[in-house]
Amino acid sequence: SFDVLMVGGGPAGAAAAIYAARKGIRTGVATERFGGQVLDTMAIENFISVSETNGPKLVAALEEHVKQYDVDIMPLQRAVKLVPATQPGGEHEVRFESGASLKSRTLILATGARWREMGVPGEDEYRNKGVAYCPHCDGPLFKGKRVAVIGGGNSGVEAAIDLAGLVEHVTLIEFMDELRADAVLQKKLASLPNVDVIKGARTTEVNGDGKRVNGLTYEERTSGELRKLELEGVFVQIGLVPNTEWLTDSSIELSERGEIVTDARGMTSVPGIFAAGDVTTVPYKQIVIAMGEGSKAALGAFDYLIRS
Ligand code: FAD
Repeated sequence: SFDVLMVGGGPAGAAAAIYAARKGIRTGVATERFGGQVLDTMAIENFISVSETNGPKLVAALEEHVKQYDVDIMPLQRAVKLVPATQPGGEHEVRFESGASLKSRTLILATGARWREMGVPGEDEYRNKGVAYCPHCDGPLFKGKRVAVIGGGNSGVEAAIDLAGLVEHVTLIEFMDELRADAVLQKKLASLPNVDVIKGARTTEVNGDGKRVNGLTYEERTSGELRKLELEGVFVQIGLVPNTEWLTDSSIELSERGEIVTDARGMTSVPGIFAAGDVTTVPYKQIVIAMGEGSKAALGAFDYLIRS
């Protein structure tokens, strides 16, 4: 059994492992795959102090750093159930799909999140070749180009406002007949000269030339007519889904969106169980933020251990 067990080995879990191991406590990381969403990332230009890197390179460096410490990394382990300790200071148990189960005095839940996809032809084929999910990450790659933003909720409208300052032209596409974003965001959006909004439109295909995105096809929902836009980028902003399905029948408090609620030290509603990164309610999902939150949760867990 462990003193601290990370569930999830993305940037949050890896950072937590390093901080925990440096305290000389028994540290484990159980994860489906090591590296998390960073493995799916190509250009990374906002990992502070490294002006340019890519996902596989950053994951290799992370793994090398973690392996300098006495950390038990258990890959290919998908957690399916959490059984919190029955008494204060007791051990929590995590059960895995493989049938294995692990016990630990503290846990750091860092199972991350995934972007909701449109599920239309071309989306997968042109991922990282014009199809993007993160305006903070990939916006500057589209300087001087035309892009679409799919989704008229807060994140879609924020993305469109953000991108309008970077790219030549933005078309925001919303499925419903009205945008769902806050009024102040909609007002700001309407004031921008290089943004068009198309409502009542269902995206049906991301078009490309075999190498990169060159357009988008959508259906005008009232008429059923198909229309095409010429553009170089598509930002999909229809939701970020936290990987918390495995926690739904545990006593961990989740927000309306299914994110884990934590306090200032990263502790969840269950004493001794911490959480960090994209799986939590922390705003702005980014690598440096996930690493900071993971480090904080590990220090929080250590603090908890020395007091109990
Ligand atoms: P994740 O990276 O999601 O890691 C979670 C880990 O938990 C994964 O390894 C997963 O396999 C594992 N896991 C999930 N469920 C379970 C389970 N039930 N049991 C066990 N393990 C589980 N951010 C930037 O700062 N800059 C960028 O340029 C950038 N580009 C991006 C590009 C793309 C395409 C994507 C998808 C994201 C990008 N991001 C970028 C966002 C960044 O990758 C995330 O904010 C960051 O990876 C979150 O780290 P995390 O450790 O919280 O979660």
